Amino acid sequence: MKSIIVIGGGFSGLACIKRLLTYRGKAEITLINDKQDFNFLPLLPDCISGRVNPEYLTFNLANLSRRINFVKERVTGIDLEGKRVVFSGLTFNYDFLLVGSGTETNFYGNEEIRKAAIKLDNTDDVNSFIGVMSQGRVSAYVIAGAGYTGIEVATNLRVVLNKQGIKGKIVIVERATSILGPLPQWMKDYVLTNLKNMDIEVLTDLSVDRVYGRRIDLSGGQVFDDAVLIWTAGVETSAFIRNLNVEKSPQGRIRVDEYLRFNDSCFAAGDAAFFSYKDSYLRMAVQFSIVQGDCAGLNIIKSMQGKSLVKYRPVDLGYIIPMANNRSCGILFGFKVKGVFPVFLHYLMCIYRSLGLRNKLGVLLSVASFRLKW
Ligand SMILES: Cc1cc2nc3c(=O)[nH]c(=O)nc-3n(C[C@H](O)[C@H](O)[C@H](O)COP(=O)(O)OP(=O)(O)OC[C@H]3O[C@@H](n4cnc5c(N)ncnc54)[C@H](O)[C@@H]3O)c2cc1C
Repeated sequence: MKSIIVIGGGFSGLACIKRLLTYRGKAEITLINDKQDFNFLPLLPDCISGRVNPEYLTFNLANLSRRINFVKERVTGIDLEGKRVVFSGLTFNYDFLLVGSGTETNFYGNEEIRKAAIKLDNTDDVNSFIGVMSQGRVSAYVIAGAGYTGIEVATNLRVVLNKQGIKGKIVIVERATSILGPLPQWMKDYVLTNLKNMDIEVLTDLSVDRVYGRRIDLSGGQVFDDAVLIWTAGVETSAFIRNLNVEKSPQGRIRVDEYLRFNDSCFAAGDAAFFSYKDSYLRMAVQFSIVQGDCAGLNIIKSMQGKSLVKYRPVDLGYIIPMANNRSCGILFGFKVKGVFPVFLHYLMCIYRSLGLRNKLGVLLSVASFRLKW
């Protein structure tokens, strides 16, 4: 009997498992995830404004299938020579492995910021954030990082503060010279105008220097007292990947070949994998994670059957930057889109990809019934 281990119960890991469950031969499938639940990450920012309830973003991994052996542990190492996965001092042997452990917030080794800041990696984080907001007495929310997540967080914050009748300062601090990294200028302009309309300040060419409790110092000398820091300034792969002696991208993602392999019997998918594409590389996104997880699962089955593997061929449907006042911009099927319609498509896609009927209905009803006070 072959032993297959899937590390990570996120989009890529679950897509792989779904495919593996179609295999009729003998195989023992083990899923190792560091939390009990799958977390639907794209809707985490919407929980801040109350548009979506965090309870609809989780799914208990123990309920996946009786054919899956679920282990709630954090993987600390992989022994590629001995074909073993290591956690809590134990080892599990594998014949085939999928690494689908995604990424987590990168604090770049700054322990002071790690302790003081709020991050947004899972529903526990979002619940802590909601808890901090409910305590009141915050004079400024400082968001480090002007990528998609930082912008979504800022706009959702403004919506909830407006609903509560609180003025509240919201500042996005970005180390680079502009927001949204390599995205086209027209998108940056559109987002900047919308942020201005929502009374969200954007400071570029600056970074968070130090945090002392509720005091935040910026590199330019500006100081915010009684402030809360939300850190969305970068991600990194799990520590066991960082310690793995295989080829990686500068972001620490595992370089995979056209079959999503990084070793004879090991595959990687989703955000943990680095796939070169048209002289560039794929963004971290749900659509790629799901299709890669599925393709890696298929290739594990093909390997067990002694058949030739299939190549992963990415199809990019596009992307949207949804903002909480129902404005958005992006590229869909190669076309520029902006306004309300892409927001509608974003939620439709989220409902479609949510796990379980209860979650789909929960998200649908909460999004449909949310009244934007603007
Ligand atoms: C706030 C936010 C908003 C986003 N919005 C969008 C969006 O609108 N559209 C979009 O396409 N993408 C969005 N993304 C990105 C998208 O969520 C990711 O690309 C996708 O989740 C990656 O899937 P994955 O399977 O690689 O990893 P994940 O879904 O992150 O799953 C990884 C799993 O592995 C587990 N894990 C990690 N390390 C270990 C370990 N050492 N041992 C055991 N388990 C481990 C984690 O707990 C997690 O359950 C967003 C991400 C965030 C954080």
